Amino acid sequence: MPTSEAISYHGVIYRVAVPSPLRRVFDYLPPATSPIANPAPGTRVVIPFGNRKLVAVLLDITSGSTLSRERLKPVAAILDEQALYSDAMLRVLLWATSYYQHPVGEVFATALPSRLRTGKSTTPLSRQLSLRAAPVEPQLQALGRARQQRALLQFIADNAPVSNEQCRAAGFSQRVLQDLLDKNLLTEQLAADPALKRFTPLPVAQDFELTLNKHQTAAYSAIVSRLESFACFLLDGVTGSGKTEVYMRVMQAVLQQGCQCLVLVPEIGLTPQTLARFEQRFSCPVVSLHSGLTDTERARAWNLARSGAAGIVIGTRSAIFVPLARPGLIVIDEEHDASFKQQEGFRYSARDLAIIRGREENICVVLGSATPSLESLQNANIGKFTHLQLSERAGTAEVAEIEILDVGSQLLTEGFSEMLLFKIGKHLGQGNQVLVFINRRGFAPVLSCQSCGWIAECASCVAQLTVHSKPPSLRCHHCDGVHPLPAHCPQCQGKQLTTYGMGTQKIETFLSSRYPDIPVLRVDRDSVRSKVKLQQLFDRVHAGEPCILVGTQMLAKGHHFPKISLAAILDADVGLFSADFRGQEHMAQTIIQVAGRAGRAEHPGEVVIQTRHAAHSTLQSLARGNYAEFAAQLLTERKRAMMPPHAHLALIRAEAPELMVAIKFLQGVRQHADNLCADAFAGVMFIGPLPAPMEKRAGRYRTQLLLRSPQRAALQDLLTRLCHFMENCKQPAKLRWSVDVDPQDLI
Ligand code: ADP
Ligand code: ZN
Ligand code: ZN
Repeated sequence: MPTSEAISYHGVIYRVAVPSPLRRVFDYLPPATSPIANPAPGTRVVIPFGNRKLVAVLLDITSGSTLSRERLKPVAAILDEQALYSDAMLRVLLWATSYYQHPVGEVFATALPSRLRTGKSTTPLSRQLSLRAAPVEPQLQALGRARQQRALLQFIADNAPVSNEQCRAAGFSQRVLQDLLDKNLLTEQLAADPALKRFTPLPVAQDFELTLNKHQTAAYSAIVSRLESFACFLLDGVTGSGKTEVYMRVMQAVLQQGCQCLVLVPEIGLTPQTLARFEQRFSCPVVSLHSGLTDTERARAWNLARSGAAGIVIGTRSAIFVPLARPGLIVIDEEHDASFKQQEGFRYSARDLAIIRGREENICVVLGSATPSLESLQNANIGKFTHLQLSERAGTAEVAEIEILDVGSQLLTEGFSEMLLFKIGKHLGQGNQVLVFINRRGFAPVLSCQSCGWIAECASCVAQLTVHSKPPSLRCHHCDGVHPLPAHCPQCQGKQLTTYGMGTQKIETFLSSRYPDIPVLRVDRDSVRSKVKLQQLFDRVHAGEPCILVGTQMLAKGHHFPKISLAAILDADVGLFSADFRGQEHMAQTIIQVAGRAGRAEHPGEVVIQTRHAAHSTLQSLARGNYAEFAAQLLTERKRAMMPPHAHLALIRAEAPELMVAIKFLQGVRQHADNLCADAFAGVMFIGPLPAPMEKRAGRYRTQLLLRSPQRAALQDLLTRLCHFMENCKQPAKLRWSVDVDPQDLI
């Protein structure tokens, strides 16, 4: 932002966030004429930008610009009578802009539902049409032989006020309606959507059948005693310990004060479940926001949230940007989940933004998890969050025991030891259900020639191709490339091609032939392409007949499967030795989440981790069922290694069709950083530039420069300067760069 330059124009200036990749705001003159005087910051405006018209958001009205009068253009139109964002939300969005080093216009564009980004009205369902003047008869006559127009005019006269949708439903085209509008015969009014009335709090608390246990009561009381202002809580409780019950009691208290609750969950798959549970409990309107909605549905839900009509808003990551008329509480369920971090474009963490939003809106934030992230545990340790623990399962269900099944150097049958197969047989024999977890989809991760050692690799990525059996193919899980399965080795023409390793499809095939009478249900990205399909699968599991559920990560989240009595984790060893610094944390979280699926309700569960590294300390502490102990151990290791949360990371990535182009670009950035006053950034360490662990993807070489600092402020300051440098330096063609603050992984 050119703040140091001299003011060369004095007068009213609209400062706006324009959806463009430039990291700056733009100055405009007020519109020549506008029915809306004095728009507030947070209002959408239309601006001329180059030879286009764009929808932008007004950030500020100031009294001068560094540009001269001739270079300033007026705003073309003001779109909203009321600002879309409160001052608090504007501060949150601006904070995100600077913290994540992302162009301000793109941040605002990400935050808005797409309908509003294109300049459409905020109230999509409430445009009401009536006749401009009565009576209708002379107007009908004046329309002469335009039969359709006459019919529509009559329809509107009879039914006014009517919406666009009603006209269309009655069989009139948009064209005919436009003709009448053009002839100035109609008026349009933005009447309130009948659903837009603010919800009324329930006069009395509902009766609850459940009595909170003592841990729940303590957690509940701690939170409600602080509802009046900003505070953060980490609700740390094993799966089934009644966290959701605590959220709901707190929400009840918030709703009774007439305030709204925002609840974030990791997956769309979980929103219908949570939605159903809330709708059952609460009588106020509950809306959900996730990527499965149409633009109109999304805009409507957004509107109900913003107007204060919805008491409860449930959504996935991007719902953190939804404005609330009367914010009262933010809940982040499964706060450890990686999906709260957006991994491309505007790379924000919805969990971390929730804290900032809580601070700006002065409300409580509750983060819940059975396996809290190390970041949140650390925040609890240093007193930034209040740590609330629910250490037993609510109701009668027992916590499943975790058993380490040491398979040493045993030969395995398609990945299963004899002991594990025996256990599976036993549980099925007792009429129960079994879950087999493996975090790899497809048939097998490697296809190789036995004669010459050739391995099938993706030509566009530095990665092996995964063998799929349904349908038979070789697929790249990184660029989604699909190739036919070769009949012979392309290198030596040998016919002995073998697969190594296992994926869900291979396990499904094996278990189906091993237990021909038992249905084997596979849950992964390939088998469940739609929400409906997933629901059908889960309905079968809930029906309770014996079955084997084989699946990936998709199984590890939030679902309750009361009849599953055995959960087996096949590939824990992959996580133990992962190159990713969060590998062990993620593995432990997955194991505990999978374990949480078993042994709900009246069936005590058994959880088995099959491993060749039974003595590994991580597995041992997990087997003791002690995530806290495990996490403390990892936190110590992270401290020793100076990794998050004990240090802060940022990754500058560059990619190009040629490796050296990307490397050279980052070398320039590194050089520039070295040239900047070294003292000011003394604590910041650089690693790189280096090729990314996954060096080539979809035909592009990927490189990275890692920045690490014990202090956020120094890192932020340096990043701002480096972004400015990268934006203004001469960039090689086809090079793309991006900044990732607090990266999830370094792959
Ligand atoms: P979590 O969110 O921690 O997984 P839930 O809130 O979903 O746990 O609770 C798990 C199960 O226990 C639910 O069926 C819930 O109705 C029940 N439950 C929760 N709290 C209690 C309680 N105090 N007494 C009896 N049952 C409870
Ligand atoms: Zn070969
Ligand atoms: Zn590929």
